[in-house]
Amino acid sequence: MTAVLEVNDIRKRFGGITAVDGVSFDVQEGEILGLIGPNGCGKSTLFNCILGQLTPSAGQVKVDGRVVTGLRPSELNRLGVSRTFQLLQVFPKLSVRENLILAGQEHQGSMMSRLFGPSDAGLTGAADQMIGFFKLDHLASEAAGGLSYGQQKLLDAAMAFMGGPRLVLLDEPAGGVNLTMLADLKERLAAINREKRATFVVIEHNMEFVMSLCSRVMVMAEGKVLAMGRPDEVRANPAVIEAYLGH
Ligand code: ADP
Ligand code: MG
Repeated sequence: MTAVLEVNDIRKRFGGITAVDGVSFDVQEGEILGLIGPNGCGKSTLFNCILGQLTPSAGQVKVDGRVVTGLRPSELNRLGVSRTFQLLQVFPKLSVRENLILAGQEHQGSMMSRLFGPSDAGLTGAADQMIGFFKLDHLASEAAGGLSYGQQKLLDAAMAFMGGPRLVLLDEPAGGVNLTMLADLKERLAAINREKRATFVVIEHNMEFVMSLCSRVMVMAEGKVLAMGRPDEVRANPAVIEAYLGH
């Protein structure tokens, strides 16, 4: 079986700093991979190298067996790869529905949306489906800027799923949200994975969130992969406990 995502020995240097220092892993269809590690260990930089926001100093990225290293984010969108950012990317003056439609337009032309997704005219319908899925119905016509921070994070995650992507990279989707919202987000991500067979990689600091949502967890430290395995294996790994979980 071909992995949806294969990352091979990715390195990224910023001047004297090696932010990502030879990271390799793969993600199988339908999997939820968690990515954890202390602040500054290179998680967001790794995402940026995979998604074409940054050009890696070395290494290779494949999506569905095809080399995509160096492609632009818009080209990756068309191959069915999308993401959220650590910092919110919603348009505050537009409504929740308009934000989703805009995200759908951006992802239009992805292979999956051409095959199974909505036509241009169907984008509103797709947006409303996503609004229902993320339980944002009562907020659909509200300006995104007027929502609570947690609701905006939910909208941001919903936007990444517009257009039926094969692979979504989520950078701290629950960062800064309260516990109720965290449970909501976890439940919705689990549902979207189950019902739409969406594959994703999620960076998150909340250990309960990661351990209960993900099928495998990858731990980074100082730009390298420290451990990779099932949540229970990773939790029991002495190197992980020392480097991360212990403090
Ligand atoms: P994480 O997401 O795990 O907290 P980052 O990937 O944001 O870590 O950062 C990894 C390291 O790379 C840090 O030392 C950070 O300061 C550095 N870094 C990240 N982006 C840049 C950049 N654009 N220019 C220079 N240094 C950067
Ligand atoms: Mg980060």
